[in-house]
Parts: sequence; C-alpha cells; structure tokens
Amino acid sequence: MKRKLIAGNWKMNGSLAANTQLVQGVRAGLAQALEGKACDVAVCVPAPYLAQVAGLLGDSGVALGAQDVSAHEQGAYTGEVSAAMLRDFATRYAIVGHSERRQYHGETDDTVATKTQRALAAGITPIVCVGETLAERDAGRTEEVVKRQLAAVIHLNGHCISEIVVAYEPVWAIGTGKTATPEQAQAVHAVLRAQLKAATEHADRVHILYGGSMNAANAAELLAQPDIDGGLIGGAALKPTDFLSIIRAGAR
Ligand code: PEP
Repeated sequence: MKRKLIAGNWKMNGSLAANTQLVQGVRAGLAQALEGKACDVAVCVPAPYLAQVAGLLGDSGVALGAQDVSAHEQGAYTGEVSAAMLRDFATRYAIVGHSERRQYHGETDDTVATKTQRALAAGITPIVCVGETLAERDAGRTEEVVKRQLAAVIHLNGHCISEIVVAYEPVWAIGTGKTATPEQAQAVHAVLRAQLKAATEHADRVHILYGGSMNAANAAELLAQPDIDGGLIGGAALKPTDFLSIIRAGAR
C-alpha cells in the first residue's frame, strides 16, 4: 500500500511570525503523530514565504509546495511566478487549478493543463484539483465535470499522468464546513481512478487526495476509503494540532 500524502494549503494566510509558529508547532509534534509509521507531508505556502518556509522545514521531511505556477515560462508577465523560480526554492509540489483560481481568476481546463505541463517540466509535482460546484452536483453532473477536468491533463507531452497528484475537491465543501461523506468522496475517487486506469497501467501509483473541510474529526474515516490516498487541507492546516491529527490519521 502506498503512503498517504497529507498536504496543507495555507491559501493567502500567514506572516513571518505566524509561519514560524506554525511550522515549529508541526515539527515539534511530527514524530509523535507518526508514531514510527509513514506518511508524506507537505505545506503549500504563499509564494513570498517559500524561502522562509524552506528554511523552517529544514530536514523535517515535510515537503515544500506552492499554490500556483505560471502558465508561461518566463518574460513579460508581471506578477507571475514561473515553475523554474519555484524550483529554485526546492519546491516539490505546486497546486494547480484550485477551484478558487478557476472561480476568481478565470482559469480554464486549458490553462490548468498548461500549468501542469510547466510544473512537470521543472521537476515539480503538480497537485491538480478537480471538483464540482453544488449546482453541478444537484444537476447530477458531478461525474461529467470531474472527468472533463481530469481529461484536460491526462495526455501530457513527454510525461505520464502517473507523475501528477490529483485532488478531488468538491467546491461546495471547500471552507464551508460541509464535508463530502466518505461514501460520496469514495464514489468520485473511484470514477477518477477508473479514468486513470484507462490512460495508464500506473494508475494505482497516482495519489488521489480528498479536499474540502477535512479536519481532525473526519480525517480517519475519509482516509480509510480505498481510493482516498491523502488529503489537501485548507483551514485545518493552519493549526498545528489539527494538522498533526490529520497526519496521525494518515500514517500507516
Ligand atoms: C482547500 O482550499 O484546498 C481546502 C480543502 O480548504 P478547506 O480544507 O478549508 O475546506
């Protein structure tokens, strides 16, 4: 069985002081949370703090992630951060296509595909987010939407889809306190796994994370589902005790 991956998404939160406290808190409790077992852990931080957090993480084994990557390689794109720049800070992961970027920044499936490709070309593992809105779920369109979003990144130039991490994040569950039930989440994860299996013989290697109000209380049940390989954690990643409880639930 592959290790679970628990990745925090700090979103636009933090400060030099708050980041220090948060990372120190996670580092202090990590060994106890793992209890000699294994779980991959990452924190995806705002770009200005990559260098600071890289230093704070040190040799903790917690990987560094970014929350976005530019679709462009370099040049006259004011405000953008390229994959190569992320790589300079030993960034291991980059979230791509988070629903907040799709919703507030107009990112299309094509943009997400280009960003995924840029990350891979720089040696960064993209965490590609897919998920339906409440209206889409209510209209019975969940499967169609997540399959369309995953299809956009499934044929990658020179890379295998097994090099990416997928995060199923139902939009209606993000930051709302409404979590998908383990059965609802597993049903969508199974759809995504089947789609990956049709594309590659390495589909079982792909981590499919669940994200959407995962917390200390519901993590164990969600992570026990056969196709849930970890979590992308927003709000609960900002509190060391909550984040550590989720890591404990994911340790095998
Ligand atoms: C997220 O933003 O990726 C997320 C899952 O947020 P939350 O855990 O706060 O719902």
